[in-house]
Amino acid sequence: MSLPEGQHRLILIGPQGSGKGTQGELLSVYLQIPTISTGHLCRTEIERGTALGKSIEREVRAGELVPDSVITEMLRVRLADYDAKDGFIIDGFPRTVAQARDAESWLQPTKVIAIELTDKIAVSRMSARRACSQCRYKTTADAVAKHGSICPRCNGAIIQREDDFPEAIQKRLDMYRSVTQPVVDHYHERDLVERFNGSLSIPLVFMEIAHVL
Ligand SMILES: [Zn+2]
Repeated sequence: MSLPEGQHRLILIGPQGSGKGTQGELLSVYLQIPTISTGHLCRTEIERGTALGKSIEREVRAGELVPDSVITEMLRVRLADYDAKDGFIIDGFPRTVAQARDAESWLQPTKVIAIELTDKIAVSRMSARRACSQCRYKTTADAVAKHGSICPRCNGAIIQREDDFPEAIQKRLDMYRSVTQPVVDHYHERDLVERFNGSLSIPLVFMEIAHVL
């Protein structure tokens, strides 16, 4: 593993359950550059209750993708922040080939990190997720089997959210395969893609990614 040098403008792509979010956090610490998640940007707008947040919330509730123009604008504003001037890691963008083409003039990634996972493993990992019905506490089916279904933070009931039912997961995976997977091919043609096996453990995948940077 060599020390990071030069500017990194990384794009993380992978289906839900691939550990992409966690790798983003680890890489952010390792490279000392921010991980910018479009999902997080959207949630922040929703929490702030802005007009933009309300329109995003409607899209998300309807199971639709947030419009490209909205995502692009939020991301460009965020990338102009001081902490992103020496590099960044983007999680959740481009989500479509159209977004990737649009971003060609202003994003210029140095590498695209594609974390691959079969649908079967993705569904099995995600359907094991459990969450508190009252607060943001997140846990797993194994932990619930061991410690019971009362939230240790707020005493609320720990449940399996509808989003984490296998049918809902499969629906999101189908969308990922049809809409986002082609983004990997798009960047592969530009020789920017490094592929990783997301079924391996988080530390192992991280070491492999760090090795190619
Ligand atoms: Zn709770």
